[in-house]
Amino acid sequence: MLESYVTHLECSLTGKRYAAGEIHGLSDAGRPLLVRYDLDALAREVSRDSVAASTAPGFWRYAPFLPVRHAENRISLGEVMTPLLPLRRSAAGLGALPDRVLVKDEGRLPTGSFKARGLCLAVSMAKELGLQHLAIPTNGNAGAAMAAYASRAGLRSTVLCPDDTPDINIREIQAQGGETWMVNGLINDCGRLVGEGKARFHWFDVSTLKEPYRIEGKKTMGYELAEQLGWKLPDVIFYPTGGGTGLIGMWKAFAELKAMGWIDGPMPRMVAVQASGCAPIVKAWEAGDEHAPVWQDAHTVAAGIRVPVAVGDFLIIRAVRESGGFCMALDDDVIMATRDRIAQEEGLLLCPEGAATAAACARALKEGLISDADSVVLWNCATGLKYPLPPVDRHLDCHADNPLDALAPA
Ligand SMILES: *Cc1c(COP(=O)(O)O)cnc(C)c1O
Repeated sequence: MLESYVTHLECSLTGKRYAAGEIHGLSDAGRPLLVRYDLDALAREVSRDSVAASTAPGFWRYAPFLPVRHAENRISLGEVMTPLLPLRRSAAGLGALPDRVLVKDEGRLPTGSFKARGLCLAVSMAKELGLQHLAIPTNGNAGAAMAAYASRAGLRSTVLCPDDTPDINIREIQAQGGETWMVNGLINDCGRLVGEGKARFHWFDVSTLKEPYRIEGKKTMGYELAEQLGWKLPDVIFYPTGGGTGLIGMWKAFAELKAMGWIDGPMPRMVAVQASGCAPIVKAWEAGDEHAPVWQDAHTVAAGIRVPVAVGDFLIIRAVRESGGFCMALDDDVIMATRDRIAQEEGLLLCPEGAATAAACARALKEGLISDADSVVLWNCATGLKYPLPPVDRHLDCHADNPLDALAPA
């Protein structure tokens, strides 16, 4: 068996080929590079049964479909296969039938978000390629995952985040070894500074889709979903879209699985969900464009999707179009009300980005864009514990004569 099935890398816009095993950022055309594999050899030498028999942690069970050559470079913080939880009591509120809507709960991954998948791969490849100092712009979760995996790998990391990033995220990044700087701008401003630091401080830029391997990590969401559903795919996937790495990565995974003959039948419809306060992809989609200009004055409580401009905009829009899907933006108040309701009815605390997918599902059902007979997967990308929660204002006086009188109806 080969150490890796990678054949080459390819510019996602022009198709120009690049050699594997070398350090790459964007293509010469300034667009994301995609990793290509010998899928015929994979289909011959790897089977669904051999994957099922793997004892590797979490997504490392898909190692043959990933670019890391040497097992010692597979950095791990104990990745897990994340659960798929059917909505029962809260289905009706969405206009859905019980058990037709599943939540893929990625909050169980190391550092509490699915950014672990992409950054685990990016850091593993950085180690394999001999890089020493990684830098990243982040709205929180990516920086935390990079800092954690870089520290685990013994690499240095610098993290630039907007100064209104939730405090818990900023602190967790620094606590896990990231040299953390707050910037009085948005993530694209942080990205520009990381770009300037590349030449000056020899940083390697781990911005989403500006190096080729985060998408390979996020691609494992597609493999894992297919395996958990018995190598079948749902009818519709709702994905909270910032840079779009996960949506593009899953679409790539489905194409690879289909090429190997591991899945057949129709592909899921991919739905890109954004917040109304930052919806560049939705706007471009509605205008019929493939490229989305920078969104001005971006604001939303769903920090993970507050991304005013995406280098992979055309890849997101192409995947949505090829899949027969659509794009949709939701208001913050609807997102938060949905989060609170599902937490109360179901005991499942979604992050706001995940709640946005639930709200989008409800609206799509209402508008007839999807049917209640469809099997649906909502992507909950992070633990809800990193976000502000509704306050509690009930107090008991344990020194009063009858403290519990306060609970009794008057
Ligand atoms: C990063 C992030 C997203 C967006 O993911 P992309 O694949 O970059 O579009 C959504 N939700 C959360 C919680 C995130 O951290």
